Amino acid sequence: MSAPDDDLPGQGLGLALPRFEAGWVWLCGAGPGDPGLLTLHALNGLRQADVLVYDALVGPDILGLARPGAVLEYAGKRGGKPSPKQQDISLRIVELARAGRRVLRLKGGDPFVFGRGGEEALSLVEAGVPFRVLPGISAGIGGLAYAGIPCTHRDTNSVVTFLTGHDATGATPDGIDWAAVARGSPVLVMYMALKHLPEIRRRLLAGGRAEAEPLAIVSHASLPDQQVVETTLGACVEDAEAGGARAPAMIVLGEVVRLRSALDWLGAIRARAERAPA
Ligand code: SAH
Repeated sequence: MSAPDDDLPGQGLGLALPRFEAGWVWLCGAGPGDPGLLTLHALNGLRQADVLVYDALVGPDILGLARPGAVLEYAGKRGGKPSPKQQDISLRIVELARAGRRVLRLKGGDPFVFGRGGEEALSLVEAGVPFRVLPGISAGIGGLAYAGIPCTHRDTNSVVTFLTGHDATGATPDGIDWAAVARGSPVLVMYMALKHLPEIRRRLLAGGRAEAEPLAIVSHASLPDQQVVETTLGACVEDAEAGGARAPAMIVLGEVVRLRSALDWLGAIRARAERAPA
């Protein structure tokens, strides 16, 4: 059963957001965690979908926005069990769509940024299942912004590189030319890099980056337990451990990290809340 029109977010706002047709898949980014960072398209999808197929990084606050009666299917790792293979997830989404469901495939951040959204979209194409892509705010941009770190700043960098510290086998990616990245990009924004930080540090130092260069580790960005470790490339491994950095985390290397001392707006809001009389 589809949601009544006047229940949909677009209606209340005077916007013509799309109607979710039966048998379609919407491949949707949920942002880094704060539900306020969902797009209107994502909310519109949540309010109409019959089935949500969601990943580990999509939290309960966001799932709670689903239409009452929607079925929630988890597609990530859970309780030490091996995660379903990408192929199985793609097959499942195709199967649900062919059964006439409105399928919202929800992924953390943006579905096309280190999220295998491209692979899933290709299998939809192959299966002839119609789909939309609803981009989301990627952790490498929005997560950094929540830590008061712009990923570009005119005085420091007109280049930024997004990379993953993890390849499909779980190792530090050999497909990355670390020396070229170290030389060519003043700011590096690294996804899935915490586990391999010792090796990444080694490669970046070997590529000529300075030990003293500022580095920040933003854990659980935009979530109530967001935590930031500010350190240097030389000290990052030890400081990550001492500071309790934990996945999911974004790691950013470069002069932009220094802006945080002035721009940590979330820290300022939290400090003000603590000072305010109850
Ligand atoms: N598609 C996602 C990235 C998926 S890869 C996006 O665009 O954001 C998973 C990695 O994303 C994590 O290992 C971590 O590096 C990063 N990540 C996702 N959500 C995060 C969050 N709330 N805080 C910090 N890092 C996050």
